[in-house]
Amino acid sequence: MSYILESLKARDPHEREFHQAVQEVTESIKPVLDQNPQYGQAAVLERIVEPERIITFRVPWVDDQGDVKVNRGFCVEMNSAIGPYKSALRFHPSVNQSILKFLAFEQVFKNALATLPLGGGAGGSDFDPKGKSDDEMMRFCQNFMAELYQHIGPNTDIAAGDIGVGTREIGYLFGMYKRLRNEFTGALTGKGLNWGGSLIRAQAAGYGCVYFAAEMLATRNMTLEGQVCLVSGAGNVAQHTAEKLIELGAKVITLSDSSGYVYDPEGIDRDKLAYVKRLKNIRRGRIQEYADKYAGAVFTPLDTNSDFNPLWSHRATCAFPCATQNEISEQDAYAIINNNVKLICEGANMPCTPEATDIFIDKSILYAPGKAANAGGVAVSSLEMVQNSIRLNWLGKEVDQRLKIIMKGIHKTCLDAAETYATPGNYLNGANITGFVKVVDAMLDQGVI
Ligand code: NDP
Repeated sequence: MSYILESLKARDPHEREFHQAVQEVTESIKPVLDQNPQYGQAAVLERIVEPERIITFRVPWVDDQGDVKVNRGFCVEMNSAIGPYKSALRFHPSVNQSILKFLAFEQVFKNALATLPLGGGAGGSDFDPKGKSDDEMMRFCQNFMAELYQHIGPNTDIAAGDIGVGTREIGYLFGMYKRLRNEFTGALTGKGLNWGGSLIRAQAAGYGCVYFAAEMLATRNMTLEGQVCLVSGAGNVAQHTAEKLIELGAKVITLSDSSGYVYDPEGIDRDKLAYVKRLKNIRRGRIQEYADKYAGAVFTPLDTNSDFNPLWSHRATCAFPCATQNEISEQDAYAIINNNVKLICEGANMPCTPEATDIFIDKSILYAPGKAANAGGVAVSSLEMVQNSIRLNWLGKEVDQRLKIIMKGIHKTCLDAAETYATPGNYLNGANITGFVKVVDAMLDQGVI
């Protein structure tokens, strides 16, 4: 399979994140291809790594000083073999075609694994939301949607939030979509509760990640109660991962943002987490302020020139990377295993470098890839779509219960597939194989498209 990777590298040498995501999948699925020559004959691998469609577009907008700014918008529609594309939208200055292709590729497998009738895509812009006023944010979202609305829809491509896109941004995007299309449909998920959103959607990726971790620990007769946990990030996924961990009796000792991390040896309790939510979601401040407020907490700035992030060197039993891709390097992975960590559960997409992942798997540490562990986000998005189409709102308890069942199901599916292909306990192989088989079987049924 290395020929696929080589051809991708030759064609698009700069798409490092996408190559990484493809490499990980191709390594996992080797035994499946060996046992199923029909896949090779139909060139499914060649097809699955090529997006069905990529649209790039100009997003001009006017800032508060009246100056015209221009950003680049993207819509990557990766694979629709099992359903309409379900995309995550990311607004971050690092956004480029490689990052969105990797997110879209991951999404294809994630949705298939979660048994959702949804394909995979991703979209976004290199727009930086940091320091922007509400008005600037609104103008940017409206101009972004002025193009995107032509490519999305409840039966075509359904978009949700990712880094830099939360309920505020989904509101501005949905308002513009509705105006341009003159229809109130579920083309976006993560909507506000009184205009089509679902209870538990905001919490879903984080809560689901913790439910998945609980299932993994149960295979070793452990629970989350009393476990000391490292969590990175301070956004949607990190906040709700920490919230559920605290609820289940675990002790969360770290959170981070792109400027650095805070270590609180006393543990981040409910009240402190409520402060973090106000700080990050309303005031849009920096995590350093946490250490200024709570005695005993220490802030360490991020050293962008180093491959080592001391966040991962604190003694703990569980680690939940919930910030961004490649945040755990090989060096961090050694620090993690030397510090007694028994479980790594990815809230973010692809937060571990391939070297780090190999170390966790070699050392038989419980390791869950994001495409399995954070699938709760898209699972509840699909529950939001169902509620939108039947024009009903389910109770939070009901949605949470469904989320728990879905995460339990994904966990079992991963373990079963890993066992079938002779790598018992390898969640990465289990997740990649399950997603791959489901999608390529649908591709075979639908002919050469
Ligand atoms: P948010 O924008 O809400 O939060 C992202 C957090 O990560 C922020 O604290 C941000 O810091 C930090 N961060 C971003 N980039 C970096 C970086 N380069 N170095 C260090 N920290 C960084 O995003 P989400 O919580 O929604 O997403 C986090 C991860 O989870 C992503 O990988 C996303 O793809 C994945 N995910 C999200 C889902 C969702 O439903 N939202 C569902 C499934 C997966 P700062 O505040 O400084 O920007």
